[in-house]
Amino acid sequence: MQKVEHIGIAVKSLSVAIPIFEKLLHASCYKTEGVDSEKVNTAFFRSGETKIELLESTDPEGVIAKFIEKKGEGLHHIAFDVKDISVEMERLKKEGFVLLNEIPKQGADNKLVCFLHPKHTNGVLIELCMERK
Ligand code: ZN
Repeated sequence: MQKVEHIGIAVKSLSVAIPIFEKLLHASCYKTEGVDSEKVNTAFFRSGETKIELLESTDPEGVIAKFIEKKGEGLHHIAFDVKDISVEMERLKKEGFVLLNEIPKQGADNKLVCFLHPKHTNGVLIELCMERK
């Protein structure tokens, strides 16, 4: 595991949340991107070395819509940069963590990603991400 690549925040509406984070970070949103497989629209900000990823659901049955229904808007996941996602997934599996996807999948921002079940990480959803080459 390397640095915290980004922090994911679930929001009801990107059009409401983007101006708030632009003011907060004093930086413009540099990219918005839809991830159809995850039923989300994302918006990215830079904050030093780390990014902030806002996530808005595009479907009332999507994971982000369900999350907000249960817990409200707020911190959704922490994403760590990894050098080799397959090696890291194998290592974590051996340590007893439960992977939410057995094969790395396409995430936003040209990344391959894997999520760890929050049940085994003190309630925090963890994302591994590796820059796609
Ligand atoms: Zn993420």
